[in-house]
Amino acid sequence: MKCAICGITVETIDEAVEGGWTPCFFDGEQEHEVACPSCTGTLLQMSEDGEMEVKEAFRGKLRYREQRGDVARQDHLLTAIAVLENEPGKLN
Ligand SMILES: [Zn+2]
Repeated sequence: MKCAICGITVETIDEAVEGGWTPCFFDGEQEHEVACPSCTGTLLQMSEDGEMEVKEAFRGKLRYREQRGDVARQDHLLTAIAVLENEPGKLN
């Protein structure tokens, strides 16, 4: 298990449960997996409908370590830029 916010890890789910890890939480509409106890205590709160959510002050401002999709998109963008720089004719 890896904290989506700070990236700290524990070996087993049992350890996480005993340590008070949060299995999932929401940042606005976006659902994220697993927050360690210290991130939970600092950044998360219980919402009105009983879900863990990011405190309003931090909403949309946290950088998550689980978003492989974003990294892949970024790499793709860099590749596209490299291609355009090498072959400017492709713009026309
Ligand atoms: Zn954490």
